[in-house]
Amino acid sequence: MKGIQGKNAIITGSSRGIGLAIAERLAEEGANIVLSSSSLKEDSPLVQELAQKYQVKVMAIPADVSSYTDVEHLINKTKEEWGSVDILVNNAGITRDNLILRMSLEDFNIILDVHLKGVFHGVKAVYPLMMKQRSGKIINITSVVGITGNAGQANYAAAKAGIIALTKSTAKELAGRGVNVNALAPGFIDTAMTDDMPENIKTQILSTIPMKRMADPKEVASVVAFLASEDASYINGQTITVDGGMVMQ
Ligand code: NAP
Repeated sequence: MKGIQGKNAIITGSSRGIGLAIAERLAEEGANIVLSSSSLKEDSPLVQELAQKYQVKVMAIPADVSSYTDVEHLINKTKEEWGSVDILVNNAGITRDNLILRMSLEDFNIILDVHLKGVFHGVKAVYPLMMKQRSGKIINITSVVGITGNAGQANYAAAKAGIIALTKSTAKELAGRGVNVNALAPGFIDTAMTDDMPENIKTQILSTIPMKRMADPKEVASVVAFLASEDASYINGQTITVDGGMVMQ
């Protein structure tokens, strides 16, 4: 894809799942990669593994996205080491599912902190750099449930809906500065997040997907790579669903 080669990309929540698939795909396209998650260590074996496999620069910087200090350090250290931050993928996430009746305030708050505030922290920290560069790509990972709502996921759906509005607002503020800001809403993807769901729930979700299957994380990563490329230069403020037809707008 056009314009990814040699760019510096940060992917939050890239120790596994969708984030790791995005990191690998951007590396395959020639981007230098900053891996990050709350538990990923600077000397993670993934650093050597990806650097050797894709022949790009790779580093790991631990950051809990719910902490602005951590995220600011992640962005600023990348800029200090490599000179620019060209692509930021705000992907880190967790779930704390329950019906509202049984949902604790703590479980509501932590989901808002990691997802909605986590994305805001990334956007806020990278904003002055990209504004000054007059270029950049921000891709925020939301979810189809941020569009539809979901019983048992009031916290997660509200946070993901917030990410969609935050994406549009950021896109409007940065559009004149050469920065593209978009969201990607995955449907049902085969990762650790969906692994431990009860089988009956999985079957029920699959029945709502016209393609009748989960996605491989690579099928999300390829769309992120497109949004990060110059092939998507005129796409801004959009939410692209990657969901096998689950939500047709
Ligand atoms: P996953 O396999 O559980 O991976 C989540 C990643 O986020 C891990 O790298 C985890 O690493 C990191 N993380 C969790 N809390 C963090 C924090 N506070 N700060 C920094 N990193 C943190 O989940 P996934 O399925 O790949 O999900 C990735 C994104 O896609 C999430 O935003 C999720 O909401 C979204 N999504 C997933 C699906 C799906 O079906 N899987 C559908 C729609 C949307 P550590 O534990 O080391 O921090």
